Amino acid sequence: MHKHQSITVLGATGSIGKSTLDVIARHPKRYQVFALTAAQQDELLFEQCRQFNPKFAVMMDEEAAARLAKKIKLAGLKTETLCGIEALEQVSAAAEVDAVMAAIVGAAGLRPTLAAARAGKRILLANKETLVMAGRIFMDAIKQSGSALLPIDSEHNAIFQALPNQYSGDLTSGGVSKILLTASGGPFRNTPLSDLKQVTPEQACAHPNWSMGRKISVDSATMMNKGLEVIEAHWLFNAPADSIQVVVHPQSVIHSMVQYVDGSVLAQLGNPDMRTPIAYGLAYPERIEAGVAPLDLFKIARLDFVEPDFERFPCLALAYRALRAGGTAPTLMNAANEVAVEAFLNQRIAFLDIPRLIADVLDKVASNEVTVLEDVLQADEHSRRVATDWILNA
Ligand code: NAD
Ligand code: MG
Repeated sequence: MHKHQSITVLGATGSIGKSTLDVIARHPKRYQVFALTAAQQDELLFEQCRQFNPKFAVMMDEEAAARLAKKIKLAGLKTETLCGIEALEQVSAAAEVDAVMAAIVGAAGLRPTLAAARAGKRILLANKETLVMAGRIFMDAIKQSGSALLPIDSEHNAIFQALPNQYSGDLTSGGVSKILLTASGGPFRNTPLSDLKQVTPEQACAHPNWSMGRKISVDSATMMNKGLEVIEAHWLFNAPADSIQVVVHPQSVIHSMVQYVDGSVLAQLGNPDMRTPIAYGLAYPERIEAGVAPLDLFKIARLDFVEPDFERFPCLALAYRALRAGGTAPTLMNAANEVAVEAFLNQRIAFLDIPRLIADVLDKVASNEVTVLEDVLQADEHSRRVATDWILNA
């Protein structure tokens, strides 16, 4: 018999949050929910509270929190409703919590995820922006507190599985020559370049293989998502930029690979369903059922591999540039990207403006050293200001 693991799900109403609760619901003897959080979808969070009966529900939006508290009271549930960023940190670091699923989208995920790291929780990391913004600070916090860090991003989860057991953080001594980070190429892999000017948010969000939140869907269409993932891999696996090769693989069946000095390449395969890496992170080192259909190799029949096209996807080049520049450059890039993606989704800028805006911010704002979290938060704010001005003047 297992003792119940007590889980906080940050971003419970999102794509990853819902998949996490789907896996948790399959294993009521293993997991119980300590806290669920969301920005403003009180209706869905209430339904989730009814099903999982958490101790706490946290909303960022005050009015939504008031609506939720009312519904919870009417329904006679015991869940306590809290509001705001400090409450997110509190339910991430609380003594009763064993594991935190970090599935808030964007920079907003940084503080609660860091709070979980500092408190020594097992962290299931979906929020890649935490590592892009504050990789050194976050990894140091993990080391200091002795947290277990399980990558949930499908590629990094695959790499984690394909690396040597008990990987020491040194690619060379592990006999690793390269990390092969696969990418689907998104919905515009073959779109004529001249048509990219007028693509709509709906087209950008229609990913061929994965169903995801809107921000990461646009990131996949620009391939900034893969750029963020290169930086994520750099921090997770202590891998220099030159040892991370992006491989476009349109079927999204191989989730990534590790190439060894003896010529071996180890890959992890599966249907594109985030419940696989989520279940792996929840139960590691064990394996549990995740509701994912077995891979049908005969139906897939073939796997293709293509080199990435940096001209079509300038965001990928920008991410390598920011990683090599170091310091606050990745933070600046991430913030500019978030502002650009939101403006694109609100139809204030065009699809091709996204890389232009980010490049201009990186040209304009100097990268500084990162010593403390404040350096990161300041760079984030500075970049957002410059990016917002860019849009106003566009
Ligand atoms: P989503 O937009 O579907 O969900 C985001 C969640 O975060 C929601 O619960 C929302 O209420 C909450 N949220 C949004 N803004 C917030 C704020 N300011 N403060 C507090 N909470 C806030 O996003 P998603 O697709 O589930 O992605 C979540 C994270 O996981 C992202 O960092 C993404 O890059 C990463 N990820 C997602 C997938 C995927 O398949 N969806 C795969 C790999 C990695
Ligand atoms: Mg991914």
